[in-house]
Amino acid sequence: MAFELPKLAYAYTALEPHIDAQTMEIHHSKHHQAYVTNLNVAIAGSDTEKLSIEEICKNISKYPMPVRNNGGGHFNHSLFWSVMAPNAGGEPTGELGAAISSAFGSFADFKTQFAAAGTTRFGSGWAWLIVKDGKLAVSSTPNQDNPLMDVADVKGTPILGMDVWEHAYYLKYQNKRPDYIAAFWNLVNWAEVAKRFASAK
Ligand code: MN
Repeated sequence: MAFELPKLAYAYTALEPHIDAQTMEIHHSKHHQAYVTNLNVAIAGSDTEKLSIEEICKNISKYPMPVRNNGGGHFNHSLFWSVMAPNAGGEPTGELGAAISSAFGSFADFKTQFAAAGTTRFGSGWAWLIVKDGKLAVSSTPNQDNPLMDVADVKGTPILGMDVWEHAYYLKYQNKRPDYIAAFWNLVNWAEVAKRFASAK
């Protein structure tokens, strides 16, 4: 089974004004599509075609770079689209809200750490909220790596991810990555993050 580009649960215009429609359309229909297409080319005719993208990521050191870059790109973007939504943001409640306060001190402290992970990632990469040994942690990865990968410095199950590649924000924010990160908080789909937290811990 070849991998496929997942459909978005919302329109390209739906995340405005925080992420503009043109960025969303190019990011999803061109960038993410290219990761899917190139991943399928890289694994064509091999047993890897029978594996899930999570299984591939967990053993990524056994694969050549095209699988790491494009497989990571496919997993990361699939997660990214699902953890954003229109009319979202605010603060997480329930078990996730309590776990964030317990791990980071407060929701505000978590936001500071997560934003710093995104701001200080040099070049292209991702900021993550992960479940590691049952506990929450913030991390970041370069390029299209992710915390599921056996090559990651900090391994865990990602439940929230923020793309800090320039293609994610440059049309609207140019060099101002911190402004994009500040706007991202208006889009976080905490219901989806809570669902991922419940199944990861
Ligand atoms: Mn991207």
